[in-house]
Amino acid sequence: MIRHDVVVLGAGLAGMRAAIEAKRAGVDVAVISKLHPTRSHSGAAEGGINAALGNATEDSPESHAFDTVKGSDYLGDQDAIEIMCREAPDDIYELEHMGAIFTRSADGKLAQRPFGAAGAPRTIYSADITGHVLIHVLYEQLIKYDIKVYEEFFATKLVIDEGQCAGLIAWDTQKGGLHAIEANHVILATGGVGRMYYGTTNAYACTGDGMSLAWNAGVPLKDMEFMQFHPTTLKSNGVLITEGCRGEGGYLRNKDGERFMKHDAPNAMELASRDVVSRAEWREIADGRGVDGCVLLDLTHLGWKKIKSRLPGSRELAMDYAGVDPIEQPIPVRPGAHYHMGGVDCDVWGETIVPGLWAAGEVACVSVHGANRLGGNSLMETIVFGRRAGQAAAERVHAQGDTGARIEPAALADEDRRIAGILNNSEGERPGVIREELAKTMYDKAGVYRTGDVLTECQDKVHELRERARNLRIDDHGSVFNTDLTTALELHSLLECADCLVTSAIPRTESRGAHSRLDYTVRDDDHWLKHTLNWNDGGQVRLDYRPVTITKHQPLARSY
Ligand SMILES: Cc1cc2nc3c(=O)[nH]c(=O)nc-3n(C[C@H](O)[C@H](O)[C@H](O)COP(=O)(O)OP(=O)(O)OC[C@H]3O[C@@H](n4cnc5c(N)ncnc54)[C@H](O)[C@@H]3O)c2cc1C
Repeated sequence: MIRHDVVVLGAGLAGMRAAIEAKRAGVDVAVISKLHPTRSHSGAAEGGINAALGNATEDSPESHAFDTVKGSDYLGDQDAIEIMCREAPDDIYELEHMGAIFTRSADGKLAQRPFGAAGAPRTIYSADITGHVLIHVLYEQLIKYDIKVYEEFFATKLVIDEGQCAGLIAWDTQKGGLHAIEANHVILATGGVGRMYYGTTNAYACTGDGMSLAWNAGVPLKDMEFMQFHPTTLKSNGVLITEGCRGEGGYLRNKDGERFMKHDAPNAMELASRDVVSRAEWREIADGRGVDGCVLLDLTHLGWKKIKSRLPGSRELAMDYAGVDPIEQPIPVRPGAHYHMGGVDCDVWGETIVPGLWAAGEVACVSVHGANRLGGNSLMETIVFGRRAGQAAAERVHAQGDTGARIEPAALADEDRRIAGILNNSEGERPGVIREELAKTMYDKAGVYRTGDVLTECQDKVHELRERARNLRIDDHGSVFNTDLTTALELHSLLECADCLVTSAIPRTESRGAHSRLDYTVRDDDHWLKHTLNWNDGGQVRLDYRPVTITKHQPLARSY
């Protein structure tokens, strides 16, 4: 039996930051990850990370907080947003002291680029490979602190013992076999669920496992209906072209060369909030002013020098996957599923309603993004709330010691039977077939624009797919690096998250942030200024609601 004081599930930025903080506080901590840490999706982040340093123009944590509240379409909890914006600057300096090489301006300060819906240039960056830089910096720290990593361990179940989290059960992907891993505290940091959509910027491994683990352990998921569509993704494979391209001055044009954002956001233009820009693009394409199902991201006027120094990764992606050199030609782009605002319900320290179970990063919903996240705020969330969860869990270890919760051998045996049942089944459907049907259904029926009728069709289809997924056929019956098995396990997570998403979206009869209804086009604060909670009721989704925390900013009309 493996046992640690604190087990962090996930080795992206949130998980590594949490583990480092817990270790610094002197507790025994281990990280479990289905991927090698540096392969986590955080490494794909491009554009940057937000903090009100005020290096480019005057700025303050208060302005950062206001922009975030407005960007969230007033659904974000303002106490949590204030914490993130206040603590962000020190976290940036700490990342820098750990060795993060951020781009600097001519005066030697950390450079800050403008990002969507931000009142000042606030996004700190390392060219356009910010996530790549940060994930390596934190991995170095993990090694420096000698933190144990169980790499390529796939968590299949959280174990709750008399209401207290006792640890988890994980499948060793490299060698095969299940392990019970006990802990006084488990911090979920498993990232997002973009893969439930076809046409997503998310890595193949972003399958919502942590949300499903928590949901099945009795923790509600919050605001699941809010999936962000990023305005600039490549048509061929959904690969992201960073908002930094527009931050550096890029234009969006329709087939007539018109900068169509002037109709939707005459002041902010291309740097309006992501939900606003995605909807404008959708309209241009639907009304026949697109180019082959896309609009055009034009960087040609920026000049080769700026593109090569500030946006080299984006240029490479455009050349490799769209066959276009942005120095000479515009890049065809369209909206793609990018970031899930919803997640595991937790407080500002990451604590859930199950004692000993915490969450941080994209898996969590604190909530700092509400109905729509601002670019650059997610990386900051992983660092601020990863650190806070690590600190709080460690303090709890010091205060309480051993919680006494244990994983009984019977729990491991039950899970062993369940996994063996999937492994040995040679009849039924292939998981990949259902995964693809799900992704297409979600993109077509629960996308940028929604209506009640189509969402209900989507829900019916998701229920049908959940039913069909009870009987999956695995062709690989071996135990070593069996990706057939992990794909099947991920499919269940995707389906549960999709059910929560669509079931939450149907009754929300308003348009707010990323949830945009053609049949209810206005925001309705009287009825819907509240968080949606999704409870697991015998495997079915049960909805409940909770008020939003408002401290300073009463809801206003949102325009850019
Ligand atoms: C292409 C792209 C670009 C982005 N650019 C930016 C940007 O410029 N700025 C910004 O603020 N945000 C950006 N984002 C969003 C941001 O990068 C993510 O929200 C954030 O990095 C998520 O970090 P995380 O630590 O929560 O999860 P991740 O980095 O996704 O890590 C999840 C971890 O959980 C582990 N895991 C998952 N399931 C299991 C399981 N069942 N068992 C064991 N381990 C498991 C994985 O192995 C992994 O280590 C971008 C996102 C994408 C997709």
